[in-house]
Amino acid sequence: MLSQVVELIENKNTFAITTHVRPDGDGIGSCLGLCWLLRSLGKSAEVIVRDGIPTAYTQLPGADEIRQVAEVNGKYDAIFVIECSDLSRPGIRNLENQLTVNIDHHATSEHFGTINWIDQTASAVGEMIYNLCKAIGGRITKEIAECVYLALVTDTGSFHFPNTTERTLKVASELVKVGVKPAQISAAVYNSYPWSRIELMSQVLATVKRSADGKIAWMRQTLEMQKKAESVDGDNNGFVNIPLAAKAVEAVCYMRETQPNTFRVSLRSKDNINVARVAEKFGGGGHKNASGCRVEGDWDTKESEIIAALFEAIEKANDTFVERENLPRI
Ligand code: 5GP
Ligand code: MN
Repeated sequence: MLSQVVELIENKNTFAITTHVRPDGDGIGSCLGLCWLLRSLGKSAEVIVRDGIPTAYTQLPGADEIRQVAEVNGKYDAIFVIECSDLSRPGIRNLENQLTVNIDHHATSEHFGTINWIDQTASAVGEMIYNLCKAIGGRITKEIAECVYLALVTDTGSFHFPNTTERTLKVASELVKVGVKPAQISAAVYNSYPWSRIELMSQVLATVKRSADGKIAWMRQTLEMQKKAESVDGDNNGFVNIPLAAKAVEAVCYMRETQPNTFRVSLRSKDNINVARVAEKFGGGGHKNASGCRVEGDWDTKESEIIAALFEAIEKANDTFVERENLPRI
């Protein structure tokens, strides 16, 4: 919990911070925000990740100092593990032998850390880093603010996903007060991609299909498409949300081939439809409205299985809704 994290920071000096493979805005923004917080407290801190940083996040202060590593190769008093359901998610060897601090806002966390601080009410881990800064009596510097703001913007879809709360907006407002320029961060995140993103998007969107009732949409990305588009990591950020723009669409499945017969799956839903449960069925996890997993096997078969599970999730959501509607009014 938070008090343990505060105590640990006060008593230790040398830290590393990491996040999951294929890091997203919350992962990178939170790692860097925490790194700047620790440094502002006179501690030694660095960010280590397995994969490259998507271009959209490279303008963040400290992004150029992030070290790409395959295993822990420094001496640290503790390692913060940001936004990871388990210790394999960072994709970095030798984490098992370290004092780890698990910081996450997902319900599916396995509490793998020596210390675990999970706050499911936080819109992004970035919001938790802000809270940590306040709890430890730190000052929100411009560097911390920019990193945390980027985490908030990306994890809340520019403050329009249901995880956006009064607190999220309050934190964002505080960050702007410290000097964050929202338009600048948004331009860096949304309008700084190479053309390959557009090439890839046009190919992926050409595959989109929907169920007869129009409630479920699914689409695919092949290795061949990536090659043809000459795409780079992060080019497909947010593709999964595009079909949700149609009012009738309630759930989306976006499968991308990572190796022959191996796929990353992103699931998204609206309202009460729980796609975290769907992802868990296939060994993944995430949030109610945004989840993911990795599957192997025949593409058509796996896709059908996932779509069937999405249908079930929609039915279940309708059932819960009806049950709630039928409750006697008091
Ligand atoms: P995305 O579709 O953006 O990759 O992932 C959406 C959400 O699902 C994220 O919050 C992410 O943490 C979670 N997620 C994606 N893939 C996996 C996975 O393989 N395992 C777990 N536990 N969570 C995942
Ligand atoms: Mn997050």
